[in-house]
Amino acid sequence: MTPSSFFSLARFGIRTILFRKKDPILGTIILTDKCNLKCRHCSVNNITAVIYPYAQIREEMRQLYGMGIRILFFCGGETFLWEDAGKCLRDLVVEAKEMGFLIVNVVTNGTFPIDLPEADLILLSLDGDREAHNRIRGDTYDAIMENIQNASADNICFYMAINQINRHAIRDVCRAAKQLPNVRAVSFNFHTPYPDTAELALSPAEKAECCGVIEEQMREGAPVFNLKSAFPYLIRGTFPTPCEQCVVMENGNLSICGRCIDVPGLCDQCGYFFVAEYTLLFRGNVKIIFEMLRTYLKYI
Ligand code: SF4
Ligand code: SF4
Repeated sequence: MTPSSFFSLARFGIRTILFRKKDPILGTIILTDKCNLKCRHCSVNNITAVIYPYAQIREEMRQLYGMGIRILFFCGGETFLWEDAGKCLRDLVVEAKEMGFLIVNVVTNGTFPIDLPEADLILLSLDGDREAHNRIRGDTYDAIMENIQNASADNICFYMAINQINRHAIRDVCRAAKQLPNVRAVSFNFHTPYPDTAELALSPAEKAECCGVIEEQMREGAPVFNLKSAFPYLIRGTFPTPCEQCVVMENGNLSICGRCIDVPGLCDQCGYFFVAEYTLLFRGNVKIIFEMLRTYLKYI
């Protein structure tokens, strides 16, 4: 992150905390829900399988920028399947940077070649060791590892959604993050139980055990891109929801926090670490503020 981006985001944070403002800073654009996988825990793939047109995505980028969003995520479905009007995902990242977004991140399942050095972070889903990952995501582990090794930059961050299938594989993902030169960090979430995947949810005791393992891995030098001060809130489910500073744009529809906001009762069981981290940050939680400063400056 450049010093001017850092000061711009810090200014936003101070204003939000001091004046209890609710302006958004982080936006996600869903490029498509089309996906080449059908993961066990996923409720959002291939509902329409429409690739949204370039002109529409560009307009959504302009709209979010105009609202004050400065951290942008491109998300799917699978983002690397997106192409339209002679443009590909990489063009969108470059255009977002030119438009003025300070941080531009991409979420992917990692099954396509990774040539995206312009992205600040590529959040790549790795859900455990080969056995656990493949149980959740089909036989994709080896192809993903090959794509990581051949990636054109070291801007990859693993993204692991912890559930009943892979909760014992946290150490494996931390180890891979430490060993692979193109991987900068690992970021965790707990499974957020949509009605059709409720059986994968963790109990508070299981969440506590997972957080214990993540803390142990942090102590042993694993590059974890999460804030341990948020763990007690994540275990008990006591962080505020939704995140007012985050918005999602899908096919012209804007939602606060996530597209999951319309699923009744789901926010009470939210497992997204970023929601806990951001909502606690913007409520002025001092431990979170200092830990976030340290963590973000280290990994972005
Ligand atoms: S890769 Fe992502 S969008 Fe595709 S099925 Fe898996 S979790 Fe869902
Ligand atoms: S479940 Fe609610 S709080 Fe969690 S990401 Fe979705 S909308 Fe936000």
